[in-house]
Amino acid sequence: MSSTAPLTSPDCLFCKIVAGEVPAEVVTSTDTVVAFRDIAPQAPVHVLVAPRDHHADVAQLAAADPALLADVVRTANEVAESMADGQFRLIFNTGTHAGQSVFHVHGHVIAGASLGWTPA
Ligand code: 5GP
Repeated sequence: MSSTAPLTSPDCLFCKIVAGEVPAEVVTSTDTVVAFRDIAPQAPVHVLVAPRDHHADVAQLAAADPALLADVVRTANEVAESMADGQFRLIFNTGTHAGQSVFHVHGHVIAGASLGWTPA
């Protein structure tokens, strides 16, 4: 992450959520990431962890700023430890065919229940 203003993209929903311009139920945040509840939860715990900096998907984030990706994973673990039993699934939908609908990278923390395997 830059030490000044975060990287942003015009009209990006999650840039607006991490900036506090669009309301969301934030569960935790750091200097580099914001974790907030998914508006349409698919599990007892369904939290999205997004970096403050805009990167379109996890592959682009890994290439541009691997330390920031580590921050996302670390926060996902903290969310699972504080809101569930510490066990979790972390999903990065990458590309429209994989179900990505918001092109500001975010990990879905899915927890709080025994999870089936696998998606269709
Ligand atoms: P994707 O499909 O990109 O992997 O995940 C996007 C997620 O963002 C979806 O699970 C969707 O329910 C969630 N989402 C979409 N719009 C909003 C919103 O305005 N607020 C919150 N908190 N979640 C949203």
